[in-house]
Amino acid sequence: MSDKTPIAPAANFIRNIVERDLEQGTYAQRLWAGSPGDASHQATGTPDPAKIRTRFPPEPNGYLHIGHAKSICLNFGIARDFGGVCHMRFDDTNPEKEEQEYVDSITDAVQWLGFGWEAFGQSHLYYASNYFDFMYRAAESLIESGHAYVDQQTAEEMRQNRGTLTEAGKNSPWRDRPAAESLALFREMRNGKHPDGAMILRAKIDMASPNINLRDPAIYRIKHATHHNTGDKWCIYPMYTFAHPLEDALEGVTHSLCTLEFEDQRPFYDWVLLRLAEAGLLAHPLPKQYEFSRLNLSYVVLSKRKLIELVENQHVNGWDDPRLPTLAGARRRGYAPEGFRLFADRIGVSKSDSWIEYTILEDCMREVLNSSAERRIAVLDPIKLVIDNYPEGQSEDCHAPNHPQKPELGHRVVPLSRELWIEREDFMEEPSKGYFRLFPGNQVRLRYGYVVKCLGCEKDAAGNVTTVHCEYLPDTKSGTPGADSVKVKGNIHWVSAAHAYSAEVRLYDRLFKEAHPGAGDRNYLDDINPDSVKTITAQLEPALKDAKPEDSFQFERHGYFVADRKDSQPGQPIFNRTVTLRDNWQK
Ligand code: ATP
Ligand code: MG
Repeated sequence: MSDKTPIAPAANFIRNIVERDLEQGTYAQRLWAGSPGDASHQATGTPDPAKIRTRFPPEPNGYLHIGHAKSICLNFGIARDFGGVCHMRFDDTNPEKEEQEYVDSITDAVQWLGFGWEAFGQSHLYYASNYFDFMYRAAESLIESGHAYVDQQTAEEMRQNRGTLTEAGKNSPWRDRPAAESLALFREMRNGKHPDGAMILRAKIDMASPNINLRDPAIYRIKHATHHNTGDKWCIYPMYTFAHPLEDALEGVTHSLCTLEFEDQRPFYDWVLLRLAEAGLLAHPLPKQYEFSRLNLSYVVLSKRKLIELVENQHVNGWDDPRLPTLAGARRRGYAPEGFRLFADRIGVSKSDSWIEYTILEDCMREVLNSSAERRIAVLDPIKLVIDNYPEGQSEDCHAPNHPQKPELGHRVVPLSRELWIEREDFMEEPSKGYFRLFPGNQVRLRYGYVVKCLGCEKDAAGNVTTVHCEYLPDTKSGTPGADSVKVKGNIHWVSAAHAYSAEVRLYDRLFKEAHPGAGDRNYLDDINPDSVKTITAQLEPALKDAKPEDSFQFERHGYFVADRKDSQPGQPIFNRTVTLRDNWQK
C-alpha cells in the first residue's frame, strides 16, 4: 500500500476484534482464487495471503466527504496494519444515479488520502454490479430451499401487513405458494414479463420478529432501468441489504465495517450468508459485520442530499468548492491528507454517536502544515510604508528562513527597497493601550530587515491613511553584528512594493455560521455564513510567484495558504486560505 506517513494508530474495539481473530486463527483457513467468487471458485485457490480483508464500498452517486474519510482511514488503515488488504468496491447495484464522474472522483480521493488497492501482486478494485449473476443464482437458491417467495401484494398491502414495533406483522397470502411457482414467477420477473412494482421477491423469515428487518424483507425488485455497467441485461435488481453481504462474501471479506444505522440489519446479513452456506454456494468462515458511529462534524453538513442541493442551487461553485466538506473541496482548500489521517486517529472509532468539533479537524491541519509548510510573507490589507532616508532606486537583499524549526530548508532572499507594503493594522495614528507596532515616534523591527522609526502618515480626503513614513536605523539589519543593539517590542512583516507579486487571494471561512446547521426548525440554508469567502488583492513576496498548484505555505502571522489547483496560471498562482493560525471561532 502507498501510505507514506503511518501514524501510530490508537487501539479501538474493531482493532481489538481483528487482533483476537488473528490470534485465534478465525480466518486462517480461507482460500483465495485470485478474484471474487463463490465457494467452488475459491476452493480452487490457495491460502489467502491477505490476513484480513476489509472493504470501502461507496455508492458512486456523489462525491466523497469528510465522513467518508473516517471510513477510508479505518478500513484501509486496519488492513494495512494487520497484513491484510482493503478492497475498493463500487457498490453500483442501483441502476439509477450512478455516473463515471463520481467513480473517478472517488478513486482520486482515496488515493489522495494516501491509500491504494494494489496488494499481493494484484489490484483489488471491484464493482458490485459484476456480481449480478451470482446474486440472481443466490436468489433462486433461496427460493428452491423454501427461504424466499414471490409476493404479489400491492405495496400498500405490504405496508399494512408489516406490523409495527409493538405489533406482529401478518403473513402474505402468497407466502406459502409452492417453490416451483415462485421460481417460475421470479424468472418471469427477470425476463421482463411484469411491470415495475407488480411483484417482489421476499425472504421468508418471520413476520412476527421483533426486528422489523426480519419480517420477510424484500430481496429483489423489478426495475426497468438501464445500468451503467450491465446495460439492459437486467430488469430486476437486488435490494441493498441482500446485495451487500453477498458482495462481502464473494470477495472473501473478513471484517465488514459499516456505520451504526446498519446494526439492525446485521441479523439479516448473517441470515443470508448462512442460508447460502447451507446451500453450498458460500464457504465458511463467513464475513462478519461490525458497526461504528458515523462522523458528525460541527459547522458542516455531510448528507449527500444537502451537498447536492448546495452544488445544484449554486450556494457554492461546484463539488470542489474549497468551502465544501467534500474531499475534492478540502483538497483545493489545502487540507493535507496527513491531516485527515491524524484526525481519523484522534477522533477514534466507537459505537457512541457524538458531534466532533470542527476545530479538531482544523487543529490537525494546522499541526501537519506547521511542520510541512514553508514560511512566506504576504500583506493582505496593504498600505504603503516609505522609508524616507532610504535612497530611491536602491534595493538590497534580506534573508528569511524557510522554516523556523527546519534550518535544513534554508533561506530565501527577500528584497528591501524604499517603498514597502505593510498591513493596515500595523499602523495606528493614535495607538491604543498596549499597541507596540507603528505609531508616530515608535520604533519597530521590519522582520528580517532594519529597525525603523515611525515619522507620521498621509491621509486621503476621507481621512483614511494611505501612506506611512519612517526612517531606518542603518546599523540594525537582522543577521548583522549589533543588530540587536536597539530593542523594540514590535516586529512587523512587509513586502517591497517594487518587487511584490500582486495576487488574488481567497479568504475562505466556514460555510455555515451555526455549529449545527438546520438544528431545531431552521432551514440549514438559512445558516449559511454570508462571509464564507472574501476575495482580495494581496501583496506577496516575489518568491510566491513561482508557487506550483497545491504548494502550501504559512503566510507569517496570517495562516496557511495553498496555490489553487484549478484557477492558478503558470507564474500567476492564486492562493486559497486553508486555515488561520488560530481558531477565530471559539466562543
Ligand atoms: P447515502 O446517504 O447515499 O447512503 P453514504 O454517505 O452512506 O450515502 P456511501 O457511498 O454509501 O455513502 O458510503 C460509503 C461508506 O462510507 C459506507 O460504508 C458508509 O458507512 C461510510 N460513511 C458515509 N458517511 C459516513 C460518515 N459520516 N462517517 C463515517 N462513515 C461514513
Ligand atoms: Mg450508504
